[in-house]
Parts: sequence; structure tokens; C-alpha cells
Amino acid sequence: MATRQQVREVCSHLDDTRPVSPDSADRCPECAALGDQWVHLRECQQCGHVGCCDSSKNKHATAHHTATGHPMVRSFEPGESWWFCYNDEVVFDLDGVGPVRAD
Ligand SMILES: [Zn+2]
Ligand SMILES: [Zn+2]
Ligand SMILES: [Zn+2]
Repeated sequence: MATRQQVREVCSHLDDTRPVSPDSADRCPECAALGDQWVHLRECQQCGHVGCCDSSKNKHATAHHTATGHPMVRSFEPGESWWFCYNDEVVFDLDGVGPVRAD
């Protein structure tokens, strides 16, 4: 667990994020459109894009970061609350911030 102040020491992007609404409830929309499977989901913290993780065939979360420059995602897996910054390659949990999706 980290405070916002601790995160700011290793990542300058937390203040760019804002409350977002996920653009999907439980799937990677781009994989679903292709008829492909995904492994885990990530949610962009700047626009709410939901995409699949790097263990998935299509890596749509990383593709979204590459295409848009949006730096931060959170796990969109039920019960998971970690954040990841692509630019700084840091993973952290934030004090007082629970999972995007409950168990
Ligand atoms: Zn960062
Ligand atoms: Zn996908
Ligand atoms: Zn985004």
C-alpha cells in the first residue's frame, strides 16, 4: 500500500487520472468483436477503456496506451485494486482505494 505522496515520488502521472466509467462491464470489447479470448482485463484511468492484459493474445490494454499515450491502468479483475503506470513501469496499491470491481 502506498500514499499518493509516495506514488508521486516514482510516478508523475497520478494527477492526470480522473474518475472514469469503464466502457465494458466484463469483457475486452475488441477481442469480443474479433471472436478472440482474453486472459485478464485492465481499465484505462484517463478514459475508461477496458482492454486485455499482456498475457492475452491481442494485448489491447497496451495497444491502447501505445495509441493514445494514456499512461495508467488499473486491474479490472474482481477483487484486485492495483494500478500500473506504463511510462514509469511501476505497480502499486493506493491507500483507501479499493478494487474497481468487487469480488
Ligand atoms: Zn507514471
Ligand atoms: Zn483484447
Ligand atoms: Zn485511455
